[in-house]
Amino acid sequence: MNYIIDCHHCGSHTEYYTSIDRRSKRAMALQQSVHIDTECAMRCPVCRARLNNSEAEFYAQVRAICEA
Ligand SMILES: [Zn+2]
Repeated sequence: MNYIIDCHHCGSHTEYYTSIDRRSKRAMALQQSVHIDTECAMRCPVCRARLNNSEAEFYAQVRAICEA
């Protein structure tokens, strides 16, 4: 799963790559279809601003790119 982070705090565009194994891929797909986990903070790698204070903020600032 790759993410494009478009931080509204510092204005940076960052490509963020995560390596996910097959086990957690299913969990993540499930999570995405239901809701974004706002319990675990996701932060801008440049300014460390929190990106997921709410689902709306997450969707506004983070784009997930699924590899087929
Ligand atoms: Zn930032």
